[in-house]
Amino acid sequence: MTDTDTTIYYDEDAEHSHIADETVAVLGYGSQGHAHAQNLADSGVDVIVGLREGSSSRGAAREDGLEVRTPVEAAADADVVSVLVPDTVQPAVYEDIRDELEAGDTLQFAHGFNIHYDQIEPPEDVDVTMIAPKTPGHLLRRNFENDQGTPGLLAVYRDATGTAKEEALAYAKAIGCTRAGVVETTFREETETDLFGEQAVLCGGVTELIKAGYETLVDAGYSPEMAYFECLNEMKLIVDLMYEGGLGEMWDSVSDTAEYGGLTRGEVVVDDHARENMEEILEGVQNGTFAREWITENQAGRPSYGQLRHAEKNHEIEAVGEDLRALFSWGADEQEQEPEREEARTNADD
Ligand code: NAD
Ligand code: MG
Repeated sequence: MTDTDTTIYYDEDAEHSHIADETVAVLGYGSQGHAHAQNLADSGVDVIVGLREGSSSRGAAREDGLEVRTPVEAAADADVVSVLVPDTVQPAVYEDIRDELEAGDTLQFAHGFNIHYDQIEPPEDVDVTMIAPKTPGHLLRRNFENDQGTPGLLAVYRDATGTAKEEALAYAKAIGCTRAGVVETTFREETETDLFGEQAVLCGGVTELIKAGYETLVDAGYSPEMAYFECLNEMKLIVDLMYEGGLGEMWDSVSDTAEYGGLTRGEVVVDDHARENMEEILEGVQNGTFAREWITENQAGRPSYGQLRHAEKNHEIEAVGEDLRALFSWGADEQEQEPEREEARTNADD
């Protein structure tokens, strides 16, 4: 099922004039916030970073040469309010700044969760848009500095002014996304595919696949070190090949034995039952069951989340991996290292 109507926008489709005279309030200075703020400022846009009094990110933003005020003050002076605090705190931050939104202003997001699941309900006379870079913020910033682009998504939820899309495209251009290409989508599609992908495939699916493979080997008497290499470590080699050239490049690169074994046995693991489970996960995303559960979990102080995190950290594969990685130089070299300061920013307010 391919969508042949996909629209992709590039630099020539975006006009800087739609944002040139605007002031953008960037709320939050974490992964996305620091990159949006600095890229916008380097593109000549007036930026005010909105952070709470006492937020430890304030120092970093000032060091980077940016004006810092409270979220309310920043929003009061802005035409575009870019909401880049964590999704779980966005509704509370929105309550604080909602009175500062004037007719014709824009609420700008990098993920659709709170709009799509009605956790934020902006006034009818405000544009609501999304520019979601498809990378973590440190890469968005690094690509920009290296004159490279970062692919992104664009969505317009509400076009109150008639120029919401033009302004969003100008924003995308100013942070470097239209250099690479910006794909048009909707808040619903971005939110639901993002949640499904991370639950069923990327974060949930892949970790369970790894643990189940590891446990199967170890339970059958094989060494934990061998099980770790086969089921976790080599995952990167396989994913790198797929990233570069799709499934085809991966199949071409592995041995014929691996290819035949994979083609005949993969469907045994991800069988009809696993596919039905995926459909159920997608339904939970679509009908809001997952969103309600996660919102309630946060309101209750994250009791289950804490337990789940604890159990995952204590899985045997983690201890085995830590010891093994310490023995090999690739442990340190091959990982994308986030700059230390960004790490500090990201964890600052949590
Ligand atoms: P983050 O956790 O890295 O940073 C959030 C920042 O918000 C903190 O550094 C802090 O400055 C501020 N903050 C934290 N708690 C706060 C509070 N209680 N009140 C006020 N300010 C607070 O967040 P992020 O990953 O940059 O995510 C921001 C948005 O970007 C989210 O909507 C997310 O879904 C989206 N997004 C993230 C990525 C990514 O790779 N990180 C990619 C695309 C979209
Ligand atoms: Mg995601």
